[in-house]
Amino acid sequence: RAKKLGKDTYQIYSPSLNIDSFKQYYLERDLRKSIENNELQIYFQPRVEASTGKIVSAEALIRWEHPVWGMVSPGEFIPLAEETGFVNEIGDWVLKEVCRFLKEWEKDNLSIVPISINITAQRFLKSNWKEMYTTILEDTGTDPALIELEITETTIIQYEKPVEDALIYLKELGIRIALDDFGTGYSSLSYIHKFPIDTIKIDQSFTRQITKSDDVEVIIKSIIFMAKGLKLNVVAEGVETFEQLAFYRNQDCSEIQGYLYSKPVPKKDFRSLLKRQMLKISFDESTQLSKN
Ligand code: C2E
Ligand code: MG
Ligand code: MG
Ligand code: MG
Repeated sequence: RAKKLGKDTYQIYSPSLNIDSFKQYYLERDLRKSIENNELQIYFQPRVEASTGKIVSAEALIRWEHPVWGMVSPGEFIPLAEETGFVNEIGDWVLKEVCRFLKEWEKDNLSIVPISINITAQRFLKSNWKEMYTTILEDTGTDPALIELEITETTIIQYEKPVEDALIYLKELGIRIALDDFGTGYSSLSYIHKFPIDTIKIDQSFTRQITKSDDVEVIIKSIIFMAKGLKLNVVAEGVETFEQLAFYRNQDCSEIQGYLYSKPVPKKDFRSLLKRQMLKISFDESTQLSKN
């Protein structure tokens, strides 16, 4: 540690300034205290029904407000947290918070929607997870059907057997399972067949290629066709344009998520979105596009 800091500190004064590893050192060190220091927050990004624009669900996405470095993106600190194992504590914390929020919204008579939570496969290696999950659900009085766990195939690959057992157990509890970033890993097809999956989330790298690559459009169509045959729910990620929305609507993709409808927003903003079910985009406009 000291050696690493020394090296990085030295680099500050060297011509080849290495701000990245300097920052990483502090992030890794400070992450451990982020929960008790109240620096973590949960943002929510709506998932909407493609045909109507109605909010049917939302994804909980973590944000870290670091006292020195400011807003740090999860893309930057989740990989660090995965290395140290702290990602497991983050996951439990997010589940607990989401369950609390759901109760709160329910008491306020909001029409609540299921919330999805990102979880890494390594959580299921530690033996305390079952007890932790059931305790959180029971203490908060949460209906397990309101929770969906998103898991990426890239994290599953290292721990296939424990993940398979865990997913079967979770399904029995009534929790839903989504395969995140679908199509970016190596085993997508075998996983949907092998594991009790409810939802697949088409990765945003595919969405980005709509209207740009005919091949990718064929791949997306095939994914949706296959998902329907398997009676899976399909969510398109990263929908930013009306053209992309029109494409997915034409394919009868059930749900979309993306900046076109809403960026991830803080809890209070999500609450008002829920309250008003306010449409930010005109779905009529997209219907016209899709007829071209
Ligand atoms: P993800 O689970 O695939 O989440 C989707 C990411 O895409 C989010 O980034 C979201 O803000 C972003 N996104 C949504 N719509 C659009 C769009 O239209 N355009 C573009 N360009 N991006 C869009 P975010 O919030 O930065 O999270 C990044 C990743 O960090 C997540 O990818 C997830 O893998 C991970 N992550 C976030 N929160 C947690 C958490 O609580 N636990 C764990 N283990 N991982 C988390
Ligand atoms: Mg996700
Ligand atoms: Mg994703
Ligand atoms: Mg991702």
